[in-house]
Amino acid sequence: MPFMYIKMIKYFTMKTFFKAILNLFKKPVTIKYPFEQTFIPDDYRGMIGFNENLCIWCRRCEMACPPGAIVFSQAMDGKQTYHFNRAVCIYCSECVRACPKEGAIFQTNVPAKCALKEENINNGWNILYGEALMSRAAYAAEKKRLAAEKAAAIKTEMEKKEAKS
Ligand code: SF4
Ligand code: SF4
Repeated sequence: MPFMYIKMIKYFTMKTFFKAILNLFKKPVTIKYPFEQTFIPDDYRGMIGFNENLCIWCRRCEMACPPGAIVFSQAMDGKQTYHFNRAVCIYCSECVRACPKEGAIFQTNVPAKCALKEENINNGWNILYGEALMSRAAYAAEKKRLAAEKAAAIKTEMEKKEAKS
């Protein structure tokens, strides 16, 4: 019986040894990452793209985004600007699903670049996010002020007309 065990051990040792020798001549199964690109499937959820020519500026993508990786700022002339943070994005595609205009926002299969320490991406984003919201509030307040000014001018004009008649 022990003789049979010794034979088995010898057999498996030899088998492993020959397998190891054969593997020396095979192509490695690993790649030299990061010097070589890894395989990326076509349906890989990568970077979010934006086409401002198709966008209708409804901000549904921003509202749908769970971690707040999208924000729109607004200039006083009403023009909006899209901002996206690749380090906050969880690549869930909710923004793409929420968008009513096909192609305005889309998901590519391009992996996001790593966020480097010197970019200070999240602190910068928090500031930008706050400023974007403030720019929208300022635009809304200015719009309200102009509407009130216009209403007051109309009222004064009507009062003048009434006084004359
Ligand atoms: S993929 Fe998800 S996390 Fe990224 S921007 Fe769109 S909704 Fe936000
Ligand atoms: S949901 Fe689409 S159309 Fe609306 S702001 Fe976002 S990208 Fe533009």
